[in-house]
Amino acid sequence: MTITYEYEDALYVNLTNKCNCACEFCLRQGKAQGSIYTEDSLWLEREPTREEALDSFLSWDVCTYREIVFCGYGEPTYRLDDLLWLVDRLKEKFGDKLPPVRINTNGHANLINGRDVCPELKGRIDTLSISLNNDNAADYTALCHPVQGEAAYQAMLDFAKESAAYVPNVVMTIVDKDKTEQEIENCKKIAAGLGVKLRVRSFIDS
Ligand code: SF4
Repeated sequence: MTITYEYEDALYVNLTNKCNCACEFCLRQGKAQGSIYTEDSLWLEREPTREEALDSFLSWDVCTYREIVFCGYGEPTYRLDDLLWLVDRLKEKFGDKLPPVRINTNGHANLINGRDVCPELKGRIDTLSISLNNDNAADYTALCHPVQGEAAYQAMLDFAKESAAYVPNVVMTIVDKDKTEQEIENCKKIAAGLGVKLRVRSFIDS
């Protein structure tokens, strides 16, 4: 079972396969069709305990990486409590030498956890990369199929705006595939209105 792995000088952490979305561009969608997913050890046969995840971290030379990234083939904030526990343990052990910590997220942490988790990110998470994906709730829902329906779009925007008060670097992302210039421009305005940056990324990216 692969819990932590290296990618482009960063140390990635894979805690869960759970997600409340079923994005049409997600690698998860290829799992049943013989894609790279079928062979991929990143699909967890079970979720690791947080102690197993900590042991996995400590098997690497943690402080040599440029960043620690909670990502994987699921939504990491399903395990936010364990994620923050891990960050606390790593900060205890490595202090200021710990590389910056990023979460790649769909921005639904408050919906998933049933509480406002933004204040809990303060002093623990350096970067949030939030998938904006679209410039309106209807298209977002058609693309990402969140179980909460269109309400998930506004919840994601609210999360981005609020988290900027607690996390130094909040970035919203869109995938360039199938986006018009106008849609990209609209997304830039949305991010700016929330007080966060927008990154336009290619189809397969970190
Ligand atoms: S939110 Fe992320 S993990 Fe979930 S389906 Fe979409 S791309 Fe995949």
